[in-house]
Amino acid sequence: MLVHDTVGTARPEAEVDQIRLALKARYDELSAEYEQAVQQSQVLRLVEVGDTAGDDQADSGTKTAERDTAQSLLRTILDRRAQFEHALARLDEGTYGFCEGCTVPIPVERLEIFPSATSCVTCKQTRERRAA
Ligand SMILES: [Zn+2]
Repeated sequence: MLVHDTVGTARPEAEVDQIRLALKARYDELSAEYEQAVQQSQVLRLVEVGDTAGDDQADSGTKTAERDTAQSLLRTILDRRAQFEHALARLDEGTYGFCEGCTVPIPVERLEIFPSATSCVTCKQTRERRAA
């Protein structure tokens, strides 16, 4: 069997299916994580509602911090899930694996580590610098 040459050719169907499965699996994992985090934050809120009566300031400060942590966790999970959703959409469009900024192919090594990456390292860094 010949070494597979992907340069300049469309991504093979089997490979697309494989990527889709991997992305979908991560997406489902994040959905489960989100459900779990929501439940945990609801428990946190119930506890809070249940015993605020005798609280001193320090206690309610801790609870606020806990709630903030829970909320930022929820946001992080949703953000990550959105990235996978976006990657899946790009896979369907046939633009998956190409940078959104400069359209160069994203190195396979990068996609293996960050399957939801939709831009090359250079464009990502440029964007982050601009946001900072
Ligand atoms: Zn780029």
